Order: sequence, then structure tokens, then C-alpha cells
Amino acid sequence: MSAQTVTFAGYTIGYGQETYEQLIPICSRYGSKIVVIGGEKALAAAKPYITKAIDGSNLEILSFEWFGGVASYENVDRLKALDSVKNADMIFAVGGGKAIDCAKCVASQTEKPFFTFPTIAATCASTTAIGVMYYPNGVQKDVFIAPRPAIHNFINLDIIAQAPPLYLWAGIGDTLAKFTEVPFSSRGHESEMAHKDALPLCMSKMTGEPLLQYGKEAMDDVKSGKSSFALEQVVLAVVITSGMVSYLIDSYKYNSNMAHAVFYGMTVLPQIEERHLHGEVVSYGVLCMLMMDKQMELLDRIYKFMKSINLPTKLADMEVKLEEMGPALDSAVTKYDIECSPYKITKELMYQAVVDLEEYNKTH
Ligand SMILES: [Zn+2]
Repeated sequence: MSAQTVTFAGYTIGYGQETYEQLIPICSRYGSKIVVIGGEKALAAAKPYITKAIDGSNLEILSFEWFGGVASYENVDRLKALDSVKNADMIFAVGGGKAIDCAKCVASQTEKPFFTFPTIAATCASTTAIGVMYYPNGVQKDVFIAPRPAIHNFINLDIIAQAPPLYLWAGIGDTLAKFTEVPFSSRGHESEMAHKDALPLCMSKMTGEPLLQYGKEAMDDVKSGKSSFALEQVVLAVVITSGMVSYLIDSYKYNSNMAHAVFYGMTVLPQIEERHLHGEVVSYGVLCMLMMDKQMELLDRIYKFMKSINLPTKLADMEVKLEEMGPALDSAVTKYDIECSPYKITKELMYQAVVDLEEYNKTH
């Protein structure tokens, strides 16, 4: 037996300036000098709030730094060489997944505590210790795991409500996968799952249920730039619950399955690579998986919800023809995501699910 240490990010979710009410007591335990690293638009959106939040305290911002546009080790090295980063006691990571992961990597390599300020709700990067790194040209390189996630995550719904709705839309799509893939991958393993996997399996229910209940309303609110209770419930599911599930569960076994395999397979198609988002295509993969597994009741619920917010339910929604799915599924079936499944997933099973889903669309 070996000891297990789990550290979670604390979080505050709020509306506007009130989000930062506890920032001074929470952050000042770690020193006084701050460097803020983030995306360009994200920094512009968060700067007035953060500046006001530390006003009158002994906290001091040394500088606001653009992360460089790509979460690359080259940008990490460039940031680490800055005096403001060298002199900072702590790092504030502001933005979407790429900016936060880049700042997380800087924090990890410099052994400084970091705090997250997500400005969009597309991923759970602000909650997890995992970072996805890219080559400078934008191609994915590897994944690193920081010694711990952020100390605290400050989620300002007013900022998220002002961001382009596309991000929340894709975040919802990816979170539908957490809701369905985790129970599917775990099926048959329940009796051998210890606390560390059994807990996030239970929590996965809370990734999807709030989306089905509040997702449509939250999307409508974001389209009009309005923060709301519905948006709060959806952001918590996408950013917090999903992040905790990913962070706790054995990611090589239970964290993903066919929805992601279908997405990765479909990236061989140029139209997917160029014009469709990860979470968008993954949500289509969720429907394929439910169809293959004959989970018709859940399929009905998720299909209706996806239609209501225009997530893709058929190939034409992603500019894909049925005959293009052969090579895509040749690739999908090789992905590690489907290795831990209740039964062997073959290309034939996947293809039949795609065909059945096309038929289903004609009658629903
Ligand atoms: Zn995903």
C-alpha cells in the first residue's frame, strides 16, 4: 500500500466584484507579490476586477503578462525569465484552458503557488492539476501533471457571460461525455473500484444532470450576455464537477471512452480539424456510444437537449458524409479511450451506431 495525497482547488463562484471578496485573506497567506499571466482578452476582462479586489491591501501586482497564445514550453521558458515572474510570490492564471495551463506550467516549474481565474467555461483546466502542452505551431505535444491544482479558483459569472457563447457550448458538449463515458467505462468494475474511483463515478451524475436541466436556459442567457442562476449551475458542472471527476478518477481506465475515440478518429477529416470544436464533436460521439450501447432512454434525453442548443446530432451537422466515416472509424478504433469497456468495441459496432443514429435523426 502507498499513501495517497489529494489536494483540491478551493473555489468561489459569484457575480462581478463579489467573486473576489475572499481574495485578500486567501491569497495573502502566500506572500504579497503577484504576477498575472493570461490571455489577451481575458486579461482585459479581468484586470479591472482584480485590481479593485486587492485595492488597499498589502498585495501588489508586479505585472500583467500575455501568456503568448500557445501553451508551449517555449512560452513557459520565456515567462520564467521575466523579472516579474522571478520576483513574484504567487501566480494568477487568467483565461481559458490554454492560458491557464501555460501559467500552471510556469507555476509548477518555479514552485510558486497559483490561483485560477477562468474567463470562459469551455474546460475544467482551472480546477485540475493536469496541463495540456503544445508545440509552438499549435500541435499537441504532451500532458503534464502539476504537484497540485490551483490553491483557489475564482469564477466570475459576469465575465463568463460576456464571452462568446461558443465556448460554453463546446464545454457543455465535452461535459456530456463525462456524464456518459465514466459510467460506461466503469460498468462491471464497480465491485473492485476503491474510494478514489468510486467517488468520482458517483459525482459524474452531477456533470450531466444540471446540463439537461439548465443548459438551454444558460445558453440563452450567455447569448444575451446575462449571468444567471442557470449559468451558475452549468458552469459548476463544466468547470468544477467535471474537473474533480477527471482529477480523481483513474484516467487511463475510466475517464473517457467511445465519445472521445470517435472525436479523435474524426480529426482525420479536414473539415473537423479546421471548423469544428472538440466538445462539439465529442457530444456527437456521446450519441454514437449511447446508440451502440442501446441506452435508448438516456439517448432520447440527451438527443433532445442537444437539438435544443444545436449541438450536432448527425453527420451533416458537421459537414461529414457517411462514406467518410470509414477512415475516421479506422482511426477511432485504435484509441486507448475504448480499451476499458464493458465489451469489445469494434469498428463494425461503431459504424452500425453511426448508421443507426442517422436513421434515428429521421424519425426524431
Ligand atoms: Zn474532451
